Amino acid sequence: MSRLLYLRGFEGILVHGGKPLIEGLRRSLDDDQAPRVYHPVMISVQEAERIVAQHSPSSPPVPCPLAKAQGRILREEIHADRDQPPFHRVMMDGIAISPHARESGQTSFLIESTHAAGAPPLRLNDPTACIQVMTGATLPEGCDGVIPYEDLSIRGQQAELNPGLVLKPMQWVHVQGADRKKNERLLAPGMRLLSPQIAILASTGRTEVRVGAIPSIAIVSTGNELVDIGQELEPYQIRPSNAYGFHAALNRAGFDRVDLSHARDDRSAIRQCVEQALSAHDVLILSGGVSMGKLDFVPEVLEQLSVVPLFHKIRQRPGKPFWFGVAPGGKQVFALPGNPLSSLICFHRYVLPSLFQSMGEPMRRHEQVLLGEGIGATGTSTLFIPVTLKQGIEAIPISHHGSGDLSALAESTGFVELPEGPLHFEKGTAVGYHRWN
Ligand code: AMP
Ligand code: MG
Repeated sequence: MSRLLYLRGFEGILVHGGKPLIEGLRRSLDDDQAPRVYHPVMISVQEAERIVAQHSPSSPPVPCPLAKAQGRILREEIHADRDQPPFHRVMMDGIAISPHARESGQTSFLIESTHAAGAPPLRLNDPTACIQVMTGATLPEGCDGVIPYEDLSIRGQQAELNPGLVLKPMQWVHVQGADRKKNERLLAPGMRLLSPQIAILASTGRTEVRVGAIPSIAIVSTGNELVDIGQELEPYQIRPSNAYGFHAALNRAGFDRVDLSHARDDRSAIRQCVEQALSAHDVLILSGGVSMGKLDFVPEVLEQLSVVPLFHKIRQRPGKPFWFGVAPGGKQVFALPGNPLSSLICFHRYVLPSLFQSMGEPMRRHEQVLLGEGIGATGTSTLFIPVTLKQGIEAIPISHHGSGDLSALAESTGFVELPEGPLHFEKGTAVGYHRWN
């Protein structure tokens, strides 16, 4: 099949079997940020992933108060504002002694003074005496090691070492600059800010940090059968549960500007909803209306609205009819099939990673788990199978009644990805795993 496709700003591109016939043009397009070639045939999961990644627009870096930065994607390099640790830090409560005393094998010490964390640096005056030190204090000048309380006994002002101790220079001292030197890099752009990264930022005194702006997202559920929660419904109607699942996953990931709406299976209703969503939001996610049904108008309406289709249909089960395109200005449009398993799986497999990529996070490697049971496959599609993860590694497949069986997901923790090709996957095979957010 050949097809002539017009992309805004370009001449027509003749594509054949998903490949452009004019390779030179393809190369010039690949160098550009503009939408690329529409694939009129089913593509692989990897190809779909690559196309979505190539069209994940970069959100601008924005300042964010440190207290609100958890889960955000770092967009600047963070350097040590001073040596880490910034001084020779005492690592144990005990006594600090001089190198002279250590080398001479002295075992009994007069306690000259006590030195707590946060106190200005102190000096040992008598090299045969010691200073009581607390964890976090500076190592007193004139000392080169700490003996913990566990290794000594104290009577009055006298400290006695336990017999047989072997002392090393700088023992129990966290040496200044041992972890990082001043100006060395602590955090790299693209990191997700979880508790360790936030703590590192705080250790440098930052009150604000530059992170990827959070895109605003419109979710449009399509379908005449959908009646929102909180309203009466007829026996032949259902709830728009997909939208609530997406919303929950987005919420948990920190996307705080998410708008939910509904369009009936009617060209003008869909058109109106899409126009409104694209004018007010950065990303559009649709559910339903992308299959072969007589009322599946979503791809047609999107194309009428100049959303450039990049693919429709992926060699995967469930979720084959997934449609993806880019609106004028580069806004991503994800049109997911309506069946609940298809929708949630496509959302977690493609949409959520792409949103994080937009905010500056590099593509992550998929988690690997081991199949808890052998599974037969067709060989012609990637299979996504809901599973319950046991002991953090063993994926037990969940039996279900097809991609409409939402109830089956109740006990699931995520889904595994079985690549196209093999006709059988042995129990114990390592496979990709995607956890529900
Ligand atoms: P569609 O992709 O529009 O052909 O829908 C496929 C199936 O998914 C139909 O049984 C729909 O009723 C169901 N469905 C569509 N949208 C939703 C939704 N938002 N939540 C739950 N089920 C849906
Ligand atoms: Mg529908």
